[in-house]
Amino acid sequence: MASTLSDRLSRLVKTMRGQARITDSNVADMLREVRMALLEADVALPVVRDFIARVKEKALGTEVVGSLNPGQALVGVVHKELAATMGEGVSDINLATQPPAVILMAGLQGAGKTTTTAKLAKHLIEKRKKKVLTVSADVYRPAAIEQLKTVTRQAGAEWFPSTPDQKPHDIALAAIDHARRHYFDVLLVDTAGRLAIDEALMAEIRDLHATLKPIETLFVVDAMQGQDAVNTAKAFKEALPLTGIVLTKLDGDSRGGAALSVRQITGAPIKFAGVSEKIDGLEVFDAERHAGRVLG
Ligand code: GDP
Repeated sequence: MASTLSDRLSRLVKTMRGQARITDSNVADMLREVRMALLEADVALPVVRDFIARVKEKALGTEVVGSLNPGQALVGVVHKELAATMGEGVSDINLATQPPAVILMAGLQGAGKTTTTAKLAKHLIEKRKKKVLTVSADVYRPAAIEQLKTVTRQAGAEWFPSTPDQKPHDIALAAIDHARRHYFDVLLVDTAGRLAIDEALMAEIRDLHATLKPIETLFVVDAMQGQDAVNTAKAFKEALPLTGIVLTKLDGDSRGGAALSVRQITGAPIKFAGVSEKIDGLEVFDAERHAGRVLG
């Protein structure tokens, strides 16, 4: 286990005792440690560079107050900047539209889309008192449709049937029609994923977006994906106007640096964190707490 950023910076500042400011001469060494910590947390390199540049600007000339030393003061600056970068924006689901509010789930296969769809259904039923319908537009994997049916039941929501011989576009229209007729507040649409980004998949989900006009388009991304999360995020951002991110598998042992990368690349707020395989394993994303985890 690598030592924490605070440990490393404290070791470093032992050599600069008596310096009451963060200056050009001491900041370079300290920023090198910050950079290492972020890379170890799997934040992508270009994102690290941008972040370090912002921190440097904010840190230089920062007065070190009270009992803090420059290292502790810098950790404070980094923590604050990390939390601000990851935490801006509204964190709950936006439902301010004529019902049914449609939520489109996007992401690679295995990211946790189907699980998150059911977790969100449960969240919206319990916390927002909504009547929720789910549907799967994944016509390539019959097992995925069945999986959504099972987890939707567990969530206490209703499931709209679809079959692999239908077109995703037709499934979308039928589901929205059903939702309207039966006064559902929310329609959650699970979509097909691929193991890697694929042009046909992107065209299909763009078409679904145009048909459904969702109020929320959530990008579901596996926190364990680390550096690769950047490329996935880029591709989905180019294909769709993302309104939020769900970072899954934060119960794993990754330091969750993907949060910073994905937030920076998509510009969309991280709304939720997946913290277990279970149906209630969804939390509203807490940027402050996550900043502490990324820093180790
Ligand atoms: P999809 O292909 O994107 O629909 O992904 P699934 O919803 O099928 O999830 C893929 C795997 O990840 C399943 O085994 C899920 O149980 C698991 N999973 C999803 N979210 C989480 C999470 O937050 N934590 C953990 N530990 N596992 C998760």
